[in-house]
Amino acid sequence: MTSLFLASCDGEKNELKTPCIENFNFVVDRFADVEILRYRVVGFENLTLQQKKFIYFLSQAALEGRDILFDQHGKYNLVIRRTLEAVFTNYAGDKNSQEFAHLTTYLKQVWMGNGIHHHHSADKFVPKFSESFFANAVNNLDSTLLPLADNQSVEEFIAKLTTVIFDPTVMPRRMNQTKGEDLVLTSTVNFYRGVTQAEAENFYNAMKNPNDARPVQFGLNSRLEKKPCRAELDSASPNDKEIAGQARNDSGLIENVWKIGGLYSEAIERIVYWLEKAVEFAENNSQKEIIRTLIDFYHTGCLAIFDEFSVLWVQDLESQIDFLNGFIESYSDPLGMKGSWEGLVNFRNPEATKRTELISRHAQWFEDNSPIAPEFKKDEVVGVSASVVTVAMLSGDCYPAAPLGINLPNSNWIRRDYGSKSVTLDNISEANNRVSLGNGFAEEFMWSELELERAKKYGSLTNTLLTDLHECLGHGSGKLLPGVDADALGVYGAPIEEARADLFALYYIADPKMLELGLLSNAEACKAQYYHYMMNGLMTQLTRIELGKNIEQAHMRNRQLVASWVFERGNLEVVELVERNGKCYMVIHDYERLRGLFAELLIEIQRVKSTGDFEAARNLVETYGVGVNQSLHAEVLERFGGLNLAPFRGFVNPVYTLVKDRSENIIDVQISYDENFVEQQLRYSRDFSTLPMFD
Ligand code: ZN
Repeated sequence: MTSLFLASCDGEKNELKTPCIENFNFVVDRFADVEILRYRVVGFENLTLQQKKFIYFLSQAALEGRDILFDQHGKYNLVIRRTLEAVFTNYAGDKNSQEFAHLTTYLKQVWMGNGIHHHHSADKFVPKFSESFFANAVNNLDSTLLPLADNQSVEEFIAKLTTVIFDPTVMPRRMNQTKGEDLVLTSTVNFYRGVTQAEAENFYNAMKNPNDARPVQFGLNSRLEKKPCRAELDSASPNDKEIAGQARNDSGLIENVWKIGGLYSEAIERIVYWLEKAVEFAENNSQKEIIRTLIDFYHTGCLAIFDEFSVLWVQDLESQIDFLNGFIESYSDPLGMKGSWEGLVNFRNPEATKRTELISRHAQWFEDNSPIAPEFKKDEVVGVSASVVTVAMLSGDCYPAAPLGINLPNSNWIRRDYGSKSVTLDNISEANNRVSLGNGFAEEFMWSELELERAKKYGSLTNTLLTDLHECLGHGSGKLLPGVDADALGVYGAPIEEARADLFALYYIADPKMLELGLLSNAEACKAQYYHYMMNGLMTQLTRIELGKNIEQAHMRNRQLVASWVFERGNLEVVELVERNGKCYMVIHDYERLRGLFAELLIEIQRVKSTGDFEAARNLVETYGVGVNQSLHAEVLERFGGLNLAPFRGFVNPVYTLVKDRSENIIDVQISYDENFVEQQLRYSRDFSTLPMFD
């Protein structure tokens, strides 16, 4: 077995200069409910100069998109961030005061959330500094440091921001998923302007052609808004008129497209500037074509070109270096269409990739032997690729909170015809696992020594393996019946899809095939994962939610859905919650039957997905995935509070510096790990912030 994160100091030839894990400072900062970590880019020094330059320019392109996400998350985010940064940097009063400390924490939260809402719960942050402190601090700044609008007085400016920051009824949630409410009007995410849910749904439904086997991802790269009235059009510049004329139809709505010459042009031009530099150092011609196609997409905003790009990207399995750069995941849109901007640069870790290649090679066996109904199985599992990668740069929606695995593209027909690419982010897991070892969490919540022992022995390995199975096999398995709309499950699509991938992985992690393939060495190992998964889904993931709130986030809904469904079905004979000394613990009585229940739910969830059974999806998610047991939640929060751990993690990136000779030729790219969270955020805001203030 590949030991994923302990093999770094033992003289492996390509890790000479990477800081040794034993004296690497993984923890960088701590504030509110967040802990900021640093990750190691193991093996960077041993890449060729060309590869290092390629990574450098791709990284610059990634960082240029940061402001786009801030503005997507809410229309006042950039102006608030810039104001807070101006106060933080230039404040002339007492920087040791309680008020200033509260403002600093709030600013860090805004950086972490890429806006004034929590990255995970989507609720607005509650500032602890006072309105009067804020007003005084802003008033005392040189007004040229403030991002004032044209003709706006400082008084008006302060009044406006005060309302947005402090009034709990103004923009309370970035995304609302409460059943029965108008999800578009009640979500303050900046994807729709003055548009109702029904208007948005009608607008996009009218575009869909049920006979189109290769539909683009409608709405992915635009803000949907009310068409300007005639008077506004007459006074607009010719360019604006052209934009307003796009997608003109009888709905009275237009799409304001994110592209060069459109919305976010200033940032996208910079992204393209760096992508053009990166092209020169691409590893091969297909990679050059991939980047050129992406540039083309940024110029035109044409979604068919984005599909072309995705087809090329998913087929490139040869290059060692890979990247994401664009409007990709739609988790932040209550209707699941608009892509949040994200950037990621990574390179393959050949050793660890052997493990996922082994899984992928047997993809057909897993599909054939899966418990799901035969009519929903894929006859041929196409292109399930998987690699373990080392992250070199995180940006946009991957930063500061980072994913552990990625499976793309999202277009259903591209997945059907060309497969998907899965990656697990090895060095992000390394940092997470390293910091979690021995922080007291398992001791507090696990039932007995037996579970603790198993967790220590197999926890890290089975966590990685579950992610691999989820990404490499789970998402790629199964098929929709002909004629079923890929969006049929609506807002329930995301949690159902994640549950499907999790269940596929949970079912197989306990299969004898794991031992046969050498992925696990012991039949006991899967019990560590079963215990971890159930405990998390039933209890401990509640540490990430405020008391009284329901579960909103798709992955969390999925995990609770799975755990509470099998809990209920097991009639306390399989899984039980037991009280001991006034504390609740989860006990698993029968691992064999638990696996059987995972299989049963997998069969049902695959049916729901394959047939587009919206009612069943809603029932499953609303019954099992949303509501929270209040007294258990209160207890979990209290016990967790006693440990003084942060429920959320974010990351800082390393710093890359070009080394040049006297003739300005780049002779090396140096990596360093000494920047802290505040320094990094302020640097990014200084060097990668080109968007004007929008309204
Ligand atoms: Zn997933």
